Amino acid sequence: MNRKASLSSRFILVLVGIVLFTASSILVVNWLGTIDHAKRQVSNELKVGIDVFQQSYKQREQTLLTTAKVLSSDFGFKRAVATGDSLTIASALANHSQRINANLMGLLDLSGNVEVMSLNGEQADVSKMKDKAPLNLELLFQQGYIADVIERDGKLYQSIYIPIEAPNPIAIAWIGFLLDQTFVNQLASLTGLGVTLMQVGLTQNNEFLLSSLTSKLVANAVASVGADVSMARNLMFGHGQFMSESIQLGSNGSTNIVLSANISELIAGFRLTTLQTLAIAGLEVILAMILGIRLTTRTVQPLIELRDAATSVADGDYQTDIKPSGNTTELIDLASSFSRMQYNIQQREKHIRYQAEHDALTGLNNRARITTIIEEQIKNDEFFQVITFCLNDFREINETFGFAIGDKCTTAVADILRISAGSAARISGGEFIWLPTQKQSDDDLIALAKRLENAVREDDLEINTDISVGVAHYPTHANSAEELLRRAGIAVHTAKLLEVPVKTFHPKQEQTYIRRLEILNELKRLLSSERNELAMYYQPKMHTASGEVSRFEALIRWNSASLGFVSPELFIPIAEKAGIIMQITEWVIRRVVMDISAWNMSNIKVAINLSVYDLTSPTLLDYTLQTLEEYSLPTSVLSFEVTESGIMEETERAVSELHRWRQAGFNLSIDDFGTGHSSLAYVKTLPVNELKIDKSFVLQLVEQPEDRVIVQAIKDLAAKFGLEVVAEGVENEESLALLRSYDVEWIQGYHISRPLPPDDVIAWCDSFKAKQRKPLLT
Ligand code: C2E
Ligand code: CA
Ligand code: CA
Repeated sequence: MNRKASLSSRFILVLVGIVLFTASSILVVNWLGTIDHAKRQVSNELKVGIDVFQQSYKQREQTLLTTAKVLSSDFGFKRAVATGDSLTIASALANHSQRINANLMGLLDLSGNVEVMSLNGEQADVSKMKDKAPLNLELLFQQGYIADVIERDGKLYQSIYIPIEAPNPIAIAWIGFLLDQTFVNQLASLTGLGVTLMQVGLTQNNEFLLSSLTSKLVANAVASVGADVSMARNLMFGHGQFMSESIQLGSNGSTNIVLSANISELIAGFRLTTLQTLAIAGLEVILAMILGIRLTTRTVQPLIELRDAATSVADGDYQTDIKPSGNTTELIDLASSFSRMQYNIQQREKHIRYQAEHDALTGLNNRARITTIIEEQIKNDEFFQVITFCLNDFREINETFGFAIGDKCTTAVADILRISAGSAARISGGEFIWLPTQKQSDDDLIALAKRLENAVREDDLEINTDISVGVAHYPTHANSAEELLRRAGIAVHTAKLLEVPVKTFHPKQEQTYIRRLEILNELKRLLSSERNELAMYYQPKMHTASGEVSRFEALIRWNSASLGFVSPELFIPIAEKAGIIMQITEWVIRRVVMDISAWNMSNIKVAINLSVYDLTSPTLLDYTLQTLEEYSLPTSVLSFEVTESGIMEETERAVSELHRWRQAGFNLSIDDFGTGHSSLAYVKTLPVNELKIDKSFVLQLVEQPEDRVIVQAIKDLAAKFGLEVVAEGVENEESLALLRSYDVEWIQGYHISRPLPPDDVIAWCDSFKAKQRKPLLT
C-alpha cells in the first residue's frame, strides 16, 4: 500500500480486504470439505460397485462351469465325441448352450484346436479358426477347468474350458458368454457406475472398447484411474470428472474392466456454494466500499475540514470558524485545539507585527511603520506635513544623567505626541515624527515644542533641553515617504544649526546639509588617518601700552585635499555636534606645545580656543599638563579661550571644570564677549582673567558710535572686576587709536597681523620689533 494513500482509500482497502479474505477462507474450507466428502463417497461407491461386479461376474462363471460339467458328464455326448459323431456333438452343444443362453459352445481337441463351434446357437465355420486357442493345457488338466476371457473374431467371451474324460481326456469343452454392450450396460445399471470394458494390444485395431459412457467421457473415465481427484485442475468448472478403478479380467492382463464414479455431480454442489459465496462476497465488497465512503465522510471529512482550516490559518486567515462536521470527542477536542492554536498564532502574529511596527520604548510607530503610513497618505494626493521633533541634547542627557532618565524624557515626548491628532513615530534616539491631521503653523509648532520641552523637564533634575522642529510638505518638498522624512530631517537639522525653534524645508538647506555631511565624513577620515591636512596658524596680540608682541592666538587651518580650504567656523561646530571635537583639541594642544617649544621665545603665551564640549571631558586638563611636561614647558605658556555663549549654556559641571583649569595655572578668557548677553555679575563669578570683546563690535568701531559705547562700557566694567580686555578684529589705525584711548590692554587684528604659519612667527616678530623702533605709531 502506498504510504501516502489517503485515509479513505485505506479504509476501503482494509474493509474490502477483510471481505475477500473471509470469502476465500470460506471457499477454501468448503472446497477441502467437499473434496474430502466427495472422495470418501466416491471410493465407497466404487468399492460397492466392484463387489457387485465381482459377484455377478463370478456367478456367470459358475453358471458356465455348471453347464460345462453337465455337458462333460453327458454319456451320449462323450460317446459322440469318442466316436466322432459330429451331428450328435453339434446338437448336444446347441442344447446345452441354449439352456443357459451361452453365446459360445465349442469342442477342442487335446492340442487345443477347435473342432466344433456353435455361436449363438448357430454352427460356426471352424475352418476359419485356424489358430490354436491360447490354452494352458497343463493347468487345465491339473485344475480341472480354466476360466478366462477369450477374444474371437473381434469379440470377447467370458469362457470356461473343461476336459471331457472317458475316463481319459478325449477332448475339451469350451463354453462362454459374450462380453458385449448389453453386458456393459447391465453392469452399469447394476452398480450405478460408468463401466468400460477394454482390451489393449491384442487385436489388429489394437484396441477393444465398450463403455456405458458416452464417447466424450470415456477418455476422462479411463484417464482418472489412479489419479488424485482433488488435484484435477478443471474440476470446478469442467464436466465429467471421474474417480475410477480398473479390474483385470482374464489371464493375459490386457483385458480390463474400468468402473468409474462421476464426481462432477458431487462437486456441482460445491460449485453452487462457490458461486453463492462469490456473489455474497461481491455484494459485501460493494457494501464495504459504501461503508468505507460513509466512514470516510464521517471520520475523514472532519479531518479534511480541519486540514483546510489549518491551511487557511497558514495563509494568514484567522477568521475561519473551526467546527468540523464530526461529533466524536476526539474530533471536538482536536477542533478546539485547532481553534486555540489559531487564536495563539493570531495573537503571536499580532504581537510580532506590533513589535515590527512599533518602537519598543514608547509604543509609538517606528520608522518602518511611519514610512508605510506616509506612503498610504501619499495615495490621497493631498497636502500634508511631515514634522520632525528633535530632542537636541539627547546624547548628552543620556551621557550625563544615564539612560533611565534619557528614556523618561523620550517617553514624556511620546506621551504628548501620541494624543496629538495624527500619526506619531519615534525614528531614532531623540527624533520623533508627527503627521498632523490639521495643518500646523509655525506658531502652533513652537507652542507644541514648548509643551514637549516642559514635559521633558524632570522634577528633580531640571533638565533644560530644547526641541527643534523641522517641517516638510507633500507634495511641494518631496513625493515619496523616504524623501519627505529625509527633508523634514534636514529642516530640523537646519533649525538646530540656526538655533531657531522651527524650520520648514528649503532646497538650499539640502546643499548646506550635504556640504556639512561631506565635511564631517572627511574630517572623520582625516582623524583616523596619518594625513597631514591640519595646521596651526598664530595671530599676534599686541600690548597696547608697550607695543610688545609676546602673545598669540592659535587658530586651526584645514586645507583638505578633496574639499579645499575649509574654514574653522564651518568645521569646528560640525566636529562639536558630531562629538569628535576632543580629538581635534588634543591635536591642537600637542601641535601648539611643539611649536612653542621650537620657537623657544621668552615670555611667550599662546591662547588656545576650547570648545565648551572640551570642558565636559575630565581628562583633557591632564592631557594638557602631561604634554607640557613632555616638552618641559610651564603652564604659563598656554592660555585658553572659551566663548561666552558656550559658558552661558553650560552646566555647573563645565564651570567647575573651568575652576580646575584656572587652579592648574592657566589664564582663561571669555571669547566673543558681548554676544552672549551674560550679565557681568555672572561673569564675575567665573574663574577668568580676560575678556575678548567680540570682533563684531570692533570691526566698525570708527563708523558705529554704539559700538564705541559698548566697547567702553565693557572696558569700564572689566576694569572694576580686575579683568584685562582684548579687542579682536582691529583692522585699521583709527580703531587702534580709539581702543588705545579706552585703555584696552590688548589689540588683535589684521592691522597688526593676519594669522601666521608657525615658521613665519619668529621672523615676523623680529621685523615687527624693528618697525616699532622706528616708531610706527605716532
Ligand atoms: P575666534 O576665536 O573669534 O577667532 C578669531 C577669528 O577672527 C579668526 O578666524 C581670525 O582669523 C579672525 N580675525 C582676526 N583678526 C581679524 C580682523 O582684523 N578682521 C577679521 N575680519 N577677522 C579677523 P578664524 O581663524 O577663521 O577662526 C574662526 C573661529 O574658529 C574662531 O573664532 C574660533 O571660534 C574657531 N577656531 C579657530 N581655531 C580653533 C581651534 O583651534 N579650536 C577651536 N575650538 N576653535 C577654533
Ligand atoms: Ca578665539
Ligand atoms: Ca573671537
